[in-house]
Formats: sequence, structure tokens, C-alpha cells
Amino acid sequence: MNSAARFNPREIVERNFTRAAARLGLNDEQQMMLRTPFREVKVEVPVRLDDGSLKVFLGYRIQHSGVRGPGKGGLRYHPAVDADEVRALAEAMTWKTAVVNIPFGGAKGGIACDPTKMSRGEVERITRRFVARIHLLLGPYRDVPAPDVNTNAQVMSWIFDEYSSRHGYSPACVTGKPVELGGSLGREQATGRGVLFVLIEHLKDFSRGLKGQKIVIQGFGNVGSNAALLLAERGAEIIAVSDVCGGIVSQNQKGLPVKELVAHVKKTGSVTKFPGAEAVSNEDLLLLDCDVLIPAALECVLHKDNASKVKAKIIAEAANLPTTPEADDIFAKKGVTVLPDILTNAGGVTVSYFEWAQNLQQVFWDEERVNADLEKYMSRAYRAVADLAAQAKISLKDAAYRVAVERVARAESLRGT
Ligand code: NAD
Repeated sequence: MNSAARFNPREIVERNFTRAAARLGLNDEQQMMLRTPFREVKVEVPVRLDDGSLKVFLGYRIQHSGVRGPGKGGLRYHPAVDADEVRALAEAMTWKTAVVNIPFGGAKGGIACDPTKMSRGEVERITRRFVARIHLLLGPYRDVPAPDVNTNAQVMSWIFDEYSSRHGYSPACVTGKPVELGGSLGREQATGRGVLFVLIEHLKDFSRGLKGQKIVIQGFGNVGSNAALLLAERGAEIIAVSDVCGGIVSQNQKGLPVKELVAHVKKTGSVTKFPGAEAVSNEDLLLLDCDVLIPAALECVLHKDNASKVKAKIIAEAANLPTTPEADDIFAKKGVTVLPDILTNAGGVTVSYFEWAQNLQQVFWDEERVNADLEKYMSRAYRAVADLAAQAKISLKDAAYRVAVERVARAESLRGT
């Protein structure tokens, strides 16, 4: 997926924000206030590696907006992390929390490193050192990180520990924690479950169900694998999946046995070489004939060079910013529906909100309540976006941004600047 290097994810949020702001009639000053990040921090993170050498990594935390609540957004460990990517993802979080109407702003963080080539001890040390550098900017009412690409509940535990050792016991300082440390039941699967709910709602609008839908998923990490499991449970057929090592496609377009595939990944570290499936490259996987394509890896994977060759009828954006503006235009012309990322993958941040709220109140919800409330938030958000899209005759993405930008603009004008 070297496409990520060729396209700037910032252009995606820029274009979507500008279209929404223009439709809402926001003036230049209002637009400037809404698009300018509140705070950007870049830190050098020196870490002693296992071989005794000292290496300095670059880390970022960008708080785009705190107008509707504390900054909220994931922490990504990946070699391609840079300021532009984190800035774009932070802004996308502002619009995402607004679409699902939870009391947070938008933030994002990242460290340019490759944790797949680091030991557990090295990942722990880089995490702790990063928190030591930025802890004054974090906090339950300031900025609350969560997992993203290559970070998980264990990384969140170290953040919780490092932050709490300086500020006192503070489980609400980070979400996506293990349940034993105050994590919420249902958080692990929440982003995938949110994708499921949005897709179900969308298909309902056309009196269709999930059963028999042929689905292709790029990325088989937290989001991709959980979406696959939940969709397959509801009768969809996952015909192809991929990860950073490559992809597999089922023979005869039959659904892959997802539970066995997850066990295979646990054992071997990749979806590749799954018995009975054929190999497919990540590029070709996106072009397979299917009903629904779910990009669930990195941004900018659907772009002007491949969009016209995509055969899926629906694209459910589980990854953040997977579609460039040129690709969006091509999909609109071809009649391909794009379920926008700021809505479709908002299940994770929604359950993060539930986790934060439980931590602040020192209570625990059972999983049924978490999943039922998630469904309520996701279907309500989908309905608002789909109704506006139908009424204004605009795409779901334009409608999602318009709902979001309007909410943040209103909050900003009420608070005064
Ligand atoms: P993850 O690290 O758990 O999984 C990422 C997956 O993508 C892995 O299977 C990895 O092998 C694959 N991948 C990485 N590079 C790839 C490449 N070049 N080609 C194909 N596959 C590649 O990350 P995740 O948490 O599942 O996040 C995936 C996407 O979903 C990201 O865009 C993230 O920002 C977004 N997202 C995550 C959450 C969440 O709760 N984790 C919430 C909202 C959005």
C-alpha cells in the first residue's frame, strides 16, 4: 500500500470540510477557527533498545478541537506516521465525535516506529517515555487517547499506569484498556460492530439484509477481523481478506470460515497461506467483484488510479480516510455508495465514550447494555446522515460532514471566540 505515501490524507479532510462549510454558509473567519488545530505537539522520544543502543523516535499528539469536549482519538505506531497524517486524523476525529454526537473533540497521536520489529519491552519503553513527554497535555477532561493501528489494550495499560503514577489513579485518562483495568466490555469489538450496524441500517433502506452479501475486507487487525466475525455471524459471506503481508480469496466466491481464519492469524501472524484459499495481492483485492468492500487498514488506498476499476457496489469505510477526493468523485459518477468513515468507524470512539463515562462514575455496564447503546448511537447517526443526504440530494459523506461541522460550529459560536 505505498499509495499512502503518494496521497496526502490532509487533502481528504480539507475538501470534505470545505464543502460542508460552504453549504452551511460559514464565513472565512468561522472556517478558519474550525479548521485550525488547537494544539500540535512534536516530541523526540529517546529509547534504549534491547541491543543496548539508544534510538530517538518522533512522536506527535495533535489536538484539533476541544469545543464539544476533551480531545479524543487514537495513538498510532507506524513507520509512515508524520505531522500531516496525524493532523488529518485529528481533524477527522473532531467530525467523527460530532456525527455520533458524543461529548468529545478530536485529537490523534502517533509515533514513527515499527512495533512489528520491536520487542515487547521496547514498545513498553517507547510508550512510557512518550507519555512522560506529553502527560501535561493529557487527562480525563483534556485529551483521552485510545488504540489505533499497531496499538492495543496493553499499550493503553502502560499509558494508564504512566499517567496515573504522576496524577493519581485516573482510569478515564485513556480508553481501550483491558477490562481488568476499567476497560469497557464490548470495546474490543466496538469499531467492527459499528461497521456492522451502519451497513445493516443502510441495506434496510433498500429492503435488503446482510445474508448472502459478498464482502471483501482489506486489513485484518482489530477492526477488519472483528467486522469479519460479526458480519459472518449475521450471514454475510467474507470472500476475501488481506493484511500487510498479502491477501487471500476464497475459491468459488464462497464465504471464508472466519473463526478458523482468526485462529490461523493467531498462530501464524498473517491471513496468508490459509489452507484452501488462493493468494491475491492487496492491490487486486480492492478490485474483486463483491457487494461490499471494507477498507480497514490505512488511508488513501482508494484513489484516482484504481477507483474506476473497483467493482463493489458499496464501500464501507472502516479505516480512516481510505478514499481520496478524486476517488470519491469517481464513485459518485459510477453510482457506488460510500458509507463515510466518520460515521462508519465511529463505533470504537462511541464505546470509548461509554468507557470514559463508566470510569468517571466508577460503575461497570454489562455487555448487552454497551452493545444496545452502541446500536442506538450508530443507527441514530446513520439516520440523521441518510435523511439529510436524501433531502439535500448530496452524498452520504457530504451529509456526514455537514451534520458534524454544523454541530461544532454551533458549539463554537455558543462558547464564543
Ligand atoms: P490494527 O493495527 O489492529 O490492524 C491493521 C491491519 O491493517 C492489520 O491487519 C495490518 O496487517 C493491515 N495493514 C497494515 N498495512 C497494510 C497494508 N499496507 N496493506 C494491507 N493491510 C495492511 O489497526 P486497527 O485498529 O484495526 O485500525 C485499522 C484502521 O481502522 C485504521 O485506519 C484505523 O485508524 C481505523 N480505526 C480504528 C479504530 C479502532 O478502534 N481500532 C477505530 C476507528 C478507526
